[in-house]
Amino acid sequence: MTTPTKTLCPYCGVGCGLEVQPPALPGKATYRDDAGTPTWRVRGDRQHPSSRGRVCVKGATVAESLDKSRLKYPMMRDTLDEPFRQVSWDEALDRIANRIRSIRSAYGRHSICMYGSGQFQTEDYYIAQKLMKGCLGTNNFDANSRLCMSSAVAGYLQSFGSDGPPCCYDDLEQTDCAFLIGTNAAECHPIVFNRLREYHKKNRKVKLVVVDPRETSTAKAADLHLAIRPGTDIDLLHGIGHLLLRWQALDSLFIEDCTRGFPEYTQILESYPPELVARRCDIRLDELELAARYWAENERVLSMWSMGLNQSSEGTAKVRSLINLHLMTGSIGKPGAGPFSLTGQPNAMGGREAGGLAHLLPGYRTVKNPQHRAEVERHWQLPPGQIDAIPGLTAWDMILGLEAGQVQLLWVAATNPAVSMPDIERTKAALRRSPFTVYQDAYYPTETADYAHVLLPAAQWGEKTGTMTNSERVVTLCSKFRDAPGEARPDWEIFAEVGRRLGFETQFQFSDSAAVHREFVALTKSRTCDMSGITYDLLQKQTVQWPHPEGADEAEAGCYDKRLYEDLRFPTEDGRARFCAVHSRGLAEAPDPDYPFVLTTGRVYEHWHTQTRTGRIPKITKKHPHPFIEIHPRDAKKLEVLDGMWVMIRSRRGEGKFKAQVTKAIAPGTLFVPMHWGFLWADNSQANALTHPEACPDSRQPELKACAVQLSPLDGE
Ligand code: SF4
Repeated sequence: MTTPTKTLCPYCGVGCGLEVQPPALPGKATYRDDAGTPTWRVRGDRQHPSSRGRVCVKGATVAESLDKSRLKYPMMRDTLDEPFRQVSWDEALDRIANRIRSIRSAYGRHSICMYGSGQFQTEDYYIAQKLMKGCLGTNNFDANSRLCMSSAVAGYLQSFGSDGPPCCYDDLEQTDCAFLIGTNAAECHPIVFNRLREYHKKNRKVKLVVVDPRETSTAKAADLHLAIRPGTDIDLLHGIGHLLLRWQALDSLFIEDCTRGFPEYTQILESYPPELVARRCDIRLDELELAARYWAENERVLSMWSMGLNQSSEGTAKVRSLINLHLMTGSIGKPGAGPFSLTGQPNAMGGREAGGLAHLLPGYRTVKNPQHRAEVERHWQLPPGQIDAIPGLTAWDMILGLEAGQVQLLWVAATNPAVSMPDIERTKAALRRSPFTVYQDAYYPTETADYAHVLLPAAQWGEKTGTMTNSERVVTLCSKFRDAPGEARPDWEIFAEVGRRLGFETQFQFSDSAAVHREFVALTKSRTCDMSGITYDLLQKQTVQWPHPEGADEAEAGCYDKRLYEDLRFPTEDGRARFCAVHSRGLAEAPDPDYPFVLTTGRVYEHWHTQTRTGRIPKITKKHPHPFIEIHPRDAKKLEVLDGMWVMIRSRRGEGKFKAQVTKAIAPGTLFVPMHWGFLWADNSQANALTHPEACPDSRQPELKACAVQLSPLDGE
């Protein structure tokens, strides 16, 4: 029997361990997908501490996309109207290096941008930072994680002095009360939610609260579902804070010793009396009081969130308002308690560690901090002052930069912005204006490939070895188990090759990904995310949760219940966490008589993001043949919409056709569409044709969760 290769599921941030074996095993029938094509066998890794052998449908079927529609060779064209022609790697890389040189001398270093992905392994992320922020001297590297969890990053950083989710999955089974807000974990992080649900079922004293405008599968499992009006999260959180203060349900010692800013926060809370909050949130007063009582009566409250808080024009304030409740009750730094953000992408955490956003540097450093820049410059053997002090362009700002002619070269890797960005027609128009776009991906066609001048084939999951970190800070070695098709290469090798062609020979001498990893973890030494004791040798034996400093006992590596801030000291200047005292601003685009509905977007259990993989797996596409819209029966009746009827949705930016699902799961006045469909999979049915780019001023994360729309039935369809 062939020994299975251990790896990590490449979809969501839960980070389930997988074991993979070839289709043909001695004494066994060849394993095949629905179409009869031999495919790799995937099962859950029982030894993986985060998932304990479990997988959801996405993880179980991931291998079925490995050989579908792969980009195998570099391709080029001079203009977007021409067909691509196959070229050699040398020709493609020389063209990119030459364009970088000429654009840099004509327009300056800040006219070059790279847009990466939480699908990268940490080694890919790290080398991309070294190329862009180090060698090219521009911080114009951002990742699709900007659309996913940058508000959590900013929230943690501002409240605690450092990024990093302080909790671990063991907390799911040690909490008194799980408070889920803005997360449909049952569908989007199913294996984490299953652990919580089982614990909740067995321990009836444990409370499960879900805050979500929709009655999702997550909400159906809750003791208390608060179906708040979209955009009223801060009102709700401040309303709970108001009651805790009124009841004096506070941890005064913790507030006194470990925090700053409580008096300013209590002043803000005065404006959120429960009657007013219940009215604004459109919930009953007793529901609000019950939620507050759960916070007041339970010593260990574990809050969890994802896009519902993050994808907002006040995302950072929402995250920090939630953290406020932990600070006022001292519900942090102990088992079963703390604010726990669930990351969307498999390695968004690794991206944060490697500095993969426009304001970050590796090791949870920031570009604005002169000491941080100097430390990284020394490590990269670059002259002082090489790293720019100004944060680079974020995801949406790159689109604005293309519109303004400021961005002359855009390099997109492992992501599909022609579907995932807000205001998609504007995004596509900006991509069309790009003088030179490199698109590096494993699949072809994709929507974004339409806008590229150079296509670079990337090796993907299973075709390269590297590390990924999941939401609970567990690092897994994802080992290669098959060769990449054609001439596809690992992302980090491609970045390093361009770096060498630009003259940075010293900086890009790596024999393999293990060498990249060694250099990266050395840069995390003594930082919050200290991984300096993690090696490939250790990871070949087991996964490791950080922090794991150099010299740490190897037995320590086998413990997965590490929490940040157990000593109640925070990495701020004075060691204290900060309360956030801000008022709610509500939605950036509220409904009005012309656009009377709030449209909210999200995911379905089976699909992943823009379907680059899941759209190629028949088992999954059969479940969801077309995009749909959820509408409440009362609204449906008023507009004469029947279940199954096609309807047209219009916003100020665009329109889309969706099939109506009439359901009480959505509140009157609110509509829901999934965000997975691009023009490759459905004609004129993109959620992001409707959304707007208004972003949180702190995190620059756009408000993909809500926009104002109108709805009309389509006659005869
Ligand atoms: Fe993969 Fe997430 Fe499903 Fe786990 S829960 S198998 S990581 S998609």
